[in-house]
Amino acid sequence: MQKSSLIIGNWKMQMTFSACASFFTEFCQEISKNYNDNSEILICPSFIHIYYALECLRKYKLEHKIFVGAQDCFYYSFGTFTGQVSPSSLSEMGCKYVIIGHAECRALYKDDGFINQRIVSALNSDLLPILCIGELDKEKQYKTLKEQLHYHKEFIVKSKKIIIAYEPIWAIGGDALPDETHIRKAADIITETLPDAKVVYGGSVNELNAKSILNIENISGLLVGSASLSAKGFLKICRA
Ligand code: PGA
Repeated sequence: MQKSSLIIGNWKMQMTFSACASFFTEFCQEISKNYNDNSEILICPSFIHIYYALECLRKYKLEHKIFVGAQDCFYYSFGTFTGQVSPSSLSEMGCKYVIIGHAECRALYKDDGFINQRIVSALNSDLLPILCIGELDKEKQYKTLKEQLHYHKEFIVKSKKIIIAYEPIWAIGGDALPDETHIRKAADIITETLPDAKVVYGGSVNELNAKSILNIENISGLLVGSASLSAKGFLKICRA
């Protein structure tokens, strides 16, 4: 039996409003013709495009099939925090998931402690966290991964629903896909530590390699950056 997978598009700050509108029109029209139940599709646009994305999905009656998530959230839900985005507001608007601790965010926060607070805050707001972990340095192999798992474990086990995105930082934003043995071993380490977590892989995923990554045992989905910006390309990945 084909396993069900979660395909996540992380748009980062790479789409204008008009590009977002064109993407959703094309994507919704295409997917309405032939929807594959075997994958759950999640798109994470910029905060300012989330409401529009949700409206598009409603217009095409796809809001129960395709989901919208945020690329980050603040670690409190309410208060005097200029410029921050509340997890409960995201949830109220209709977001289902939130990416937490993406390498590009970690580089800005400087302090990983706030990532654990973000996990708790997201869970308290009924958002499903997608926690990104992975090593910066190819040579360090799984050392950083194990340390990060240990660091976040207490907060992760509070929810059986958490998703772990294994994203080796050296593979993000290029064409440096690790070999299958590397991805399999990382997924095994995560699953041994957190048997209830769903593991997705991210970093240099494209329409050509998506299927073989999804075939790796213990990998239940993909986190796709650049290759999720084109409706046609992302659809191919969703149907891989
Ligand atoms: P990429 O990005 O697919 O462009 O490598 C993945 C990510 O940063 O999540």
